[in-house]
Amino acid sequence: MAVPQSAVGDKPNLLGMTLPEMTAFFAQLEEKPFRAKQVFRWIHQAGVDNFDAMTDLAKSLREKLPQVAVIQAPKLMTEQASKDGTRKWLLDVGTGNGIEVVFIPESDRGTLCVSSQVGCALDCTFCSTGKQGFNRNLTTAEIIGQLWWANKAMGPGWANSPKGERIVSNIVMMGMGEPLANFDNVTSAMDIMLDDHAYGLSRRRVTLSTSGVVPNLQRLKERCPVALAVSLHASNDALRDVLVPINQKYPLAELLATIKDYLQAAPRDFVTFEYVMLDGVNDSVQHAHELVKLVSGIECKFNLIPWNPFPDAPYARSSNNAIHRFCDILRQAGLIVTVRKTRGDDIDAACGQLAGQVVDKTQRTQQNKLGSSKAIRTIPIMNAGLTV
Ligand code: SAH
Ligand code: SF4
Repeated sequence: MAVPQSAVGDKPNLLGMTLPEMTAFFAQLEEKPFRAKQVFRWIHQAGVDNFDAMTDLAKSLREKLPQVAVIQAPKLMTEQASKDGTRKWLLDVGTGNGIEVVFIPESDRGTLCVSSQVGCALDCTFCSTGKQGFNRNLTTAEIIGQLWWANKAMGPGWANSPKGERIVSNIVMMGMGEPLANFDNVTSAMDIMLDDHAYGLSRRRVTLSTSGVVPNLQRLKERCPVALAVSLHASNDALRDVLVPINQKYPLAELLATIKDYLQAAPRDFVTFEYVMLDGVNDSVQHAHELVKLVSGIECKFNLIPWNPFPDAPYARSSNNAIHRFCDILRQAGLIVTVRKTRGDDIDAACGQLAGQVVDKTQRTQQNKLGSSKAIRTIPIMNAGLTV
């Protein structure tokens, strides 16, 4: 089986293989399927990236594997810890590009915010990742490598024990990039997250956030239904066409119908709508009432996100009063609403504060005339929703 997207040089990267792919690869080597399972567990449950450490493999196999394959995670560049327990890692994904991964501990769960692309091509007007432009899709190895790193970094016990101690209990695909624009690699990485021989997370604990790439949301329903978050941000097409330009291609009626259909297969029977609060743009009483009408008939929860500023952006964050007024209207209509809290702001790990590195191939940073020629800009990686 060809596994080019997770290859390093000529050798396939085992870190980015699903268990069926690894089994097929081992079959090519004339090795039994249970050998593939052993290696898969060593990599994902014991955090091992060195064949020599796989002590229950035959010596001959331990010698053969490095000649035909690698286990290569993105390199760790920096690590920071906040006094509130939030942790942040900057990972090197080559050619000047870096991605940041954030771990947000809460009393009942530990959430890891994972990136899917270097930059994003969709160009939402309020989003600094969009304004950074796009470089490339992350490989499956680079996506799952974020979880692999986080587990390794967090638990010496985890790294030393093949049994493992799962500290990351939830994944949100809410970092840099549009996950449904990197469908194959993201779904393969989610397969590994869900696999009992790897991280064994339930579908309910893996959430994919999308701005609404409708055809791929339809495919996701069949391929790998996980919990769903949708970046709504507007209560009508005219406004959403401006804020989330992909709406021009897949307008609200189409998106909402697809969400309804997706929920038939989803592990949670509701969608979480994300709604960034932009002062004087989408936060009026009228918008709130229009929104209530728009989503009637859809099982949903709302996560209101106070907008995080970035240089030269043409927006301001809604006032606390406006956010609470908006929240109250939604709640009075019977909707469940949370307002996202800031975490890890002392290490610049809060929403909109993260500084990844994007070498922009679209040259959008210049097109947007953001007043800076720097390729390195602040990117938002979102954290879990919390009720105020
Ligand atoms: N591309 C996906 C997932 C990544 S963005 C998506 O759009 O859903 C994760 C969330 O952060 C999205 O809801 C996005 O709209 C929001 N976001 C982007 N920039 C932001 C900013 N500056 N302040 C607050 N939220 C922002
Ligand atoms: Fe891309 Fe999501 Fe940002 Fe839009 S909000 S530009 S889809 S990362």
